Amino acid sequence: MGLFNVVDVPGEPVCRSCGRAGRRNAQFRFGACNLRRYRVGDFLEWGEWDAGVPGRPLVAARGYGSPCPHCGFDDDLMFDVIIEHDIVTAVRPETGKIDYSGQDHEWDELGR
Ligand SMILES: [Zn+2]
Repeated sequence: MGLFNVVDVPGEPVCRSCGRAGRRNAQFRFGACNLRRYRVGDFLEWGEWDAGVPGRPLVAARGYGSPCPHCGFDDDLMFDVIIEHDIVTAVRPETGKIDYSGQDHEWDELGR
């Protein structure tokens, strides 16, 4: 069943609960939502359980951060997963400047 994709978050965010830095990932819904794990620089797959449209010049997808790998505290980190021409080019902390709410999917085409 298609649900989402996972992308590794660059760097090691510090947990607000235990204060330790740790690797995180973010779940997002764009491309083939087949639970594939991506890193920045990877091409998105398409062809099953697709969310969105392939080949768009610049898209941001809402990324839901994973809990702290050390203590399990869920600090609800949110990310903007930036996708350019189907390549994941960046994962950065959500700025709030991208409005995902005005639509029924959790990605937004930018630069139109
Ligand atoms: Zn922690």
